[in-house]
Amino acid sequence: MKINERQLELTDRQIKRILASGNYYSGVYQKAGISGVSTPEEFEKIPFTDKSDLRNAYPLGIQAVPDEQVVRIHSSSGTTGKPVIIPYTARDVEDWATMFARCYEIAGITARDRIQITPGYGLWTAGIGFQAGCEKLGAMAIPMGPGNTDKQIQMMIDLQSTVICATSSYALLLAEEINKRGLRDKIALKKGVIGSERWSDVKREYIARELGIELYDIYGLTEIYGPGIGINCSDQYGMHVFDDFLYTEIIDPQTGEVLPDGEEGEIVITTLVKEGAPLIRFRTHDLSRIIPGECSCGRTYPRLDTITGRSDDMFKVHGVNMFPSQVEEILGMVDGVGSEYKIDIAHDETKNRDIIMITAEAEGRVEFARVGEEVKRLCKSRLGVTPNVTIVSINTLPRSEKKTQRVFDHRGD
Ligand code: ZN
Repeated sequence: MKINERQLELTDRQIKRILASGNYYSGVYQKAGISGVSTPEEFEKIPFTDKSDLRNAYPLGIQAVPDEQVVRIHSSSGTTGKPVIIPYTARDVEDWATMFARCYEIAGITARDRIQITPGYGLWTAGIGFQAGCEKLGAMAIPMGPGNTDKQIQMMIDLQSTVICATSSYALLLAEEINKRGLRDKIALKKGVIGSERWSDVKREYIARELGIELYDIYGLTEIYGPGIGINCSDQYGMHVFDDFLYTEIIDPQTGEVLPDGEEGEIVITTLVKEGAPLIRFRTHDLSRIIPGECSCGRTYPRLDTITGRSDDMFKVHGVNMFPSQVEEILGMVDGVGSEYKIDIAHDETKNRDIIMITAEAEGRVEFARVGEEVKRLCKSRLGVTPNVTIVSINTLPRSEKKTQRVFDHRGD
């Protein structure tokens, strides 16, 4: 979807504000000779930016307003390197809550719902975003934060929470516990709002079935407000993204070429009205595609398909490019194998070969050695690599309250 007139006008205003602010990006745009934007062609010439710029500008180099307008900061740590700090103005906080409340509404959640929020509060954007959207909607927030599963389940029963907000891993853990303790009849959950990361259909079906709920994928990232910039509707096909606040493009992660609607690539986002830390053409490294055409629900917000992975999660073994999602797909094909897994990659110096090790979980009813062989065989035929496979009991691998790291590369260790 090409950038429209209104979005161009807003981006032009953003560029002018950035230049006047003298922030990190004003230097970048001055050097590139950019003073504004008036056509889609000009827009596509604006250089991309990503997390490395935000690290270079640490701590507050991207701030585009005077200090007295900043009301809050958030930070994303990432797995490596310096954290990133994002300043917010009062309007940014308000806009984020507006988008988040919209997400709840699209998921059919109303002021009568009781929303149990399990993502973390604090520097991370998650918990507080779920909370602000909930309050804006007028629903009852139950601000649990992460962990303490006993207390989570107790509150869920006592307060009869109707909505659970969680990462897919934590929702899975709660579903497993509720199942194990035989408490399904005591809970009143109807919907789950799950922070969008790549997660398997096996896991989705298990959570939906065990908790008896409808699941909604909510999208977002700290650099662009936080979670709550898009969600799937009840038609369950793609996440609506709010194009009055954001312009979304899909690019080829290798060449940077803008791809037409329908083609898969990396999501790039431009913030149209963000004041504290405006970002233009920010590379998210999330892989997806824009679903062409209009949604049957009647909403005209463009739709992103389910996130299939991250362009920086790609790993190379024996010169072959692979994504964790490919391994996940294989695990989903073997009966009795669960949805949690990890991939370790090492280098065998003596043989001068890369070794890939997959650890996955399986239910007690299946023979671990046999399913391990099956996973190995499928990897060989479908991915062209033969991993060492270790099968462990369900619940052995850690369940994360944040995005789960799947790939551990030990080759530089
Ligand atoms: Zn829809």
